[in-house]
Amino acid sequence: MNNRPIYLDCHSTTPVDERVLTAMLPFFTQHFGNPSSINHVYGWEAEAAVKQARTTLAGAINASIEEIVFTSGATEANNLAIKGVAEAYFSKGQHIITVETEHSAVIDPCKYLRSLGFEVTVLPVQKDGLLDLNQLEKALRPETILVSVMAANNEIGVLQPLAEIGALCRAREVLFHTDAAQAIGKIPLDVEAMKIDLLSMTAHKVYGPKGIGVLYVRRRHPRVQMSPQLHGGGQERGMRSGTLYPPQIVGFAKAVEIALAELDAESQRLIQLRQQLWQQLSQLDGIYLNGHPTLRLPGNLNISVEGVDGAALLLGLQPVMAVSSGAACSSQATAPSRVLTALGHSEKLAYASVRFGMGRFNSAAEIERVGEYAIATISSLRRQTSLV
Ligand SMILES: *Cc1c(COP(=O)(O)O)cnc(C)c1O
Repeated sequence: MNNRPIYLDCHSTTPVDERVLTAMLPFFTQHFGNPSSINHVYGWEAEAAVKQARTTLAGAINASIEEIVFTSGATEANNLAIKGVAEAYFSKGQHIITVETEHSAVIDPCKYLRSLGFEVTVLPVQKDGLLDLNQLEKALRPETILVSVMAANNEIGVLQPLAEIGALCRAREVLFHTDAAQAIGKIPLDVEAMKIDLLSMTAHKVYGPKGIGVLYVRRRHPRVQMSPQLHGGGQERGMRSGTLYPPQIVGFAKAVEIALAELDAESQRLIQLRQQLWQQLSQLDGIYLNGHPTLRLPGNLNISVEGVDGAALLLGLQPVMAVSSGAACSSQATAPSRVLTALGHSEKLAYASVRFGMGRFNSAAEIERVGEYAIATISSLRRQTSLV
């Protein structure tokens, strides 16, 4: 593995932490029961493990265990939140508000609802990637049923003002959903203090396994109505049918438990690495930081580079580092990033961009090597362009 590029794509996915894997393993072959089997010990022990995991995950966001709905990931959680609320509140209103820089797993369900006749307002962001709260307030209408604003952006790492958004929505009796796929285990989240009604999370961005997520659905003050999108055995209080997957669920809880225990120290460490890399890179002219300088995920550095071709830059960096320019799930390499375009960048500058996603297993020495190699690559590409 020594010659493989340094992994700096932690917003796309992360490796499973060994401690997480160890917690998961017994649930494949030994404690393999179906948590819904209520007549024997195989079912009981699986159910007990799921309940413990639910307790951990609920505690991580200050929720209760009845408010946790397991899904296959954040994509499904977002779809369930948005479509499930749209259906359940249809008679109250058909207006939804979201933001330009959301993940496609929020934007696309909203577009789908628009095709069914719902009205969707997609708010712009400011130059630093933050939502303008005055604009949100103006966009709220009597028929607005849902506001969906992500906690942390997957490209530029920007952290939206959740508590302020939650307060605005609660005052107007509009439900507030947040996609916290990038935020869980990286920044503190509290559904009470932030007045969040629905929250999506996923395990694989926080050193847990792929294929498991959670939708938090508020049960009190207010109780959120939800139309299920998968019908069947009636698991998860009817909100999401399908046999629960104990190894993934146990792994998710372990991953979040570790991340929260290490959150303070790890944030400090990652902020230092980010500053180190930015200081190195900004020695060059024509390098721009995308997104707010401090209100961002500790491990996120996103830059635009003037005077180089975006595809050539990524190709040049690839032998030494695994980075990407935009969201992995939408890597139509030819299109400029929707998120960077939303910041007001010209298409060209948005295209020559690099997202460094640093995480638990990156060292200061790695980041130094990355900085040196990136500077050399950019300089060499610029020399080539100036020759033609
Ligand atoms: C990764 C990601 C998703 C999708 O999550 P999956 O669990 O892979 O479906 C949704 N939203 C954001 C912000 C993400 O970063």
